[in-house]
Amino acid sequence: MPLTRQLGLALSALQLQDRLRDQSRRDPLTGLANRRHLEEELDRQVSLSVSTASPLSLVALDIDHFKRLNDTFGHDAGDAVLVQMGQTLRKFTPVGALAARPGGEEFCLLLPGFTGDEALVLAEQVRAAIEGWSLAHAGISLGRITASLGVSTWGDTATSGPALVKAADEALYQAKHAGRNRVVLAGTRLDEPQTDTAEPLS
Ligand code: GH3
Ligand code: MG
Ligand code: MG
Repeated sequence: MPLTRQLGLALSALQLQDRLRDQSRRDPLTGLANRRHLEEELDRQVSLSVSTASPLSLVALDIDHFKRLNDTFGHDAGDAVLVQMGQTLRKFTPVGALAARPGGEEFCLLLPGFTGDEALVLAEQVRAAIEGWSLAHAGISLGRITASLGVSTWGDTATSGPALVKAADEALYQAKHAGRNRVVLAGTRLDEPQTDTAEPLS
């Protein structure tokens, strides 16, 4: 076989290998990183954060009343919302950060170099952007869609990758409990639960 042909075949094999590796790290619906990729990157960023003494924050996001949205408008409409969430998160992902969909209607932003306060500002921008959507599917308006977000920071609320995830999840749970459509920084004490600000679907 001529050398050029051999080189061509080797190159195609490498390209295929790259494509398969990329596919195994992405969520096919949104194109964001999947859980596996997020966990790998979390380990890497935690080590970097320790060795360089730089901050690292994590934002966990969960769509409010997503089951109701599916039940009202159908699973395809739900999927379209997830795709839209992927686009919105990509838009807000700074260089060097990672947007992921670890599963279902749950998303994450891993933010190297971000203090808790900086991550809180970004999370609030994401929350406001989602609240401002006016989405339609198959010609029918999907009404107001909101999400709740929890923010945790390495060192402040967590000293391991899994603890960072747990702290962000707990803050997210607090945001849900406090009435949804809000951002909570891990370690914040909240007052009594408030009324749910995620409006019923019309
Ligand atoms: P909360 O405000 O407390 O988060 O309520 P919720 O309804 O969003 O939460 P719950 O966990 O009860 O429901 C999540 C729903 O997400 C249930 C499941 O059917 C739906 N879901 C999970 N993955 C997908 C998906 O890939 N596509 C669609 N369309 N729906 C999904
Ligand atoms: Mg959920
Ligand atoms: Mg939800």
